[in-house]
Amino acid sequence: MEGLVQSGIEGARKVLILAETLFDQSCSDKGGDALIAFPDTAYFLPMIYAYSGGEIKKIKDLDGVFLMAKRLLDEDTDEVNKALNAGMAALLLAEGIAAIRYLRNEEPQKDCEGFFTDSILRSLGLQLAGGKIPGFALIIGAAPDTSSAVEMIRDFQGKNLVTFAGGESAGLSIIDQLKEGDIEMGWDNYLVPYGRDIISAIYPINWAVRVALTFGALKGGDRGTLLKYTRERIPAVGVKLGEITPEEIAFAWGAVNLGFPVVVHADLPSLTLPGICKYEAVKGEPDIRKIPGAVLQIRGIKIKVKKIPIPVSYSDAFQGERVRREDTYVEFGGKYSTSFEFLTMRVLEEIQDGKIEVEGKEINEMTEGEAYPLSLLVEVAGRKMQRDYEPILERLLHSFINSAEGIFHIGQRDINWIRVSKEAQRKGFRLHHLGVIIHARLHEDFGNVIDKVQIKMSSVKETVEGLLETARKSYQQRDERMAGISDEGVEEFYTCTLCQSFAPHHVCIVKPERLGLCGAYNWLDCKISHDINPRGPNQPIKKEKGIDLVMGEWEGINRAVRENSKRKLERFHAYSIMTFPETSCGCFECIVAYIPEANGFMVVNRQYPGMTPSGMTFTTLAGSVGGGQQIPGFAGIGRLYIVSRKFLKADGGIKRIVWMTGELKEFLGERFKKRSEEEGVPDLMEKIADEDITTTLEELLAFLGRVRHPVLTMKPLM
Ligand code: SF4
Ligand code: ZN
Repeated sequence: MEGLVQSGIEGARKVLILAETLFDQSCSDKGGDALIAFPDTAYFLPMIYAYSGGEIKKIKDLDGVFLMAKRLLDEDTDEVNKALNAGMAALLLAEGIAAIRYLRNEEPQKDCEGFFTDSILRSLGLQLAGGKIPGFALIIGAAPDTSSAVEMIRDFQGKNLVTFAGGESAGLSIIDQLKEGDIEMGWDNYLVPYGRDIISAIYPINWAVRVALTFGALKGGDRGTLLKYTRERIPAVGVKLGEITPEEIAFAWGAVNLGFPVVVHADLPSLTLPGICKYEAVKGEPDIRKIPGAVLQIRGIKIKVKKIPIPVSYSDAFQGERVRREDTYVEFGGKYSTSFEFLTMRVLEEIQDGKIEVEGKEINEMTEGEAYPLSLLVEVAGRKMQRDYEPILERLLHSFINSAEGIFHIGQRDINWIRVSKEAQRKGFRLHHLGVIIHARLHEDFGNVIDKVQIKMSSVKETVEGLLETARKSYQQRDERMAGISDEGVEEFYTCTLCQSFAPHHVCIVKPERLGLCGAYNWLDCKISHDINPRGPNQPIKKEKGIDLVMGEWEGINRAVRENSKRKLERFHAYSIMTFPETSCGCFECIVAYIPEANGFMVVNRQYPGMTPSGMTFTTLAGSVGGGQQIPGFAGIGRLYIVSRKFLKADGGIKRIVWMTGELKEFLGERFKKRSEEEGVPDLMEKIADEDITTTLEELLAFLGRVRHPVLTMKPLM
């Protein structure tokens, strides 16, 4: 223990020297007034901001951070607190170093993510809240060899943990071992390389701190709440591989201070710190194969491992895995053959649960490198099953199938595309196993709705083409039925309070014609989710008496808003953002903002980093829209709401849109065109400016005049 304290302090002092040297050098190269910032974040240097409230914008602002670090290092306190102080000092200093490196174009490092942006923060946060991700492992160093590195990572992926890989040990980083082992990395693979040294380990850490800032309503400088939040709510664990340096020990103390225990690949006695880490704070594990298990145990992470009897591994972490052409054994659909998937409802007596039929050739009888036709028919039955659920369940076939290692699936309906890798075929994967997966997942995830699942597949051309006719008729009927569900046509809307674990006063009111602002839940999704989990985050609410049907205000909805917002909010206008707009947690796909000078709206999506004619970027706008506040003129929305007939109808609907990003225009494409025709302005898209046309207000106004945008003849909104 004493050794660890001393080494931690020594390490923090080394980081201090490193920071001061880089600071002096950069002050003389670039000047103390040079701006420093991480990309796409509203939280300055987040670790420093969360801990001290300090808004670092220039190199010279770091002076205050040095003082803070020295004060922490000099404090006369007991051994444990000395070590925890040294840890915090190391994290604050490392963040300053990383920010200066960004200015010097030394970050992100080659093949590494570098700083994790706020966009990623929100999408990961949502998955954490929804229980999809059980925890995070931060790996620092290198494994003894490539194969043990690969094996360990596969184990983490199989447990659905998101792994941040990086750091180094004797000049070698696990990142390079994984590259050598041909392991695909990236957010979709739950495996993210952050950087190749200990300083860059600040990125996963200041990501975790931003979860508290974004979702925990934490104010910068509120240390007590910060530490309480990270210790209780963020299931992260550090893993150190290889020789340990004093700087790494300092970092480990910093992680422990935030409540993130550390597993060390060595024979070490355990260290416990009650009140900070619930189980051990530091634990040695000399057997690398046991490290993933130790990570779960030390943070009390529970995982639901999906045990599905197939010959390849199965986990959400494989969803991002691609199967390249040269690695493909056989494929179905895409451009190469006729293929479709279709899920349909039957009466209970008609089907036999667990029955899986494969007509025609099995994978091992197929010729390597060829494409074959495939029909995938899933028949389900259940007392609570409804026809309306078919498309939702069918859409999930994608993630069910894609979670199998070595199986690649994209698209849906009759434009699906499945590849089976050579490796998966060699391990014994067959078409039959697609059925095994679908049967298991539907029962596991939808047991309340479905009692029986039966799967029929065929690779015989005639059968496939015959069945395709029937499926296509159903697809079309479904689309017509869905298009017919309107806000007026239903008695009930649904609440979604999934984000309350992060944003305690936020509630989404999900309607047939306005999906949740995260874009992930529409009205039918909420309906089925309520059937599966009646006490869950989606509750039906009766609209009751209409107060103002133009604005979209109902008594029952207002009551639900009051109750769910813990009385912070009184009323919502569903179809206007100018009066009582619906609020946002922080997960919105887009922001709509009123531009008074143009008498219209602009819409910007999360992925767009540039400037908008409102004079604000997405990130700046997000700062005022998020956190459950009701600000007239601004709202967070799901992308598809733009092409809904109820899109801000009371404010004039899509004809009010004067500026929209190119990415959104492309995404909405045909759907937008159809809506514009309905509104009597078929060429509306061409009259809406985007970033290629302008990002300034002046030019926007000139453009609107030039194209005779319909907004010119509309009533002023204010
Ligand atoms: Fe969160 Fe609203 Fe999406 Fe539900 S619908 S997950 S509350 S953003
Ligand atoms: Zn949310």
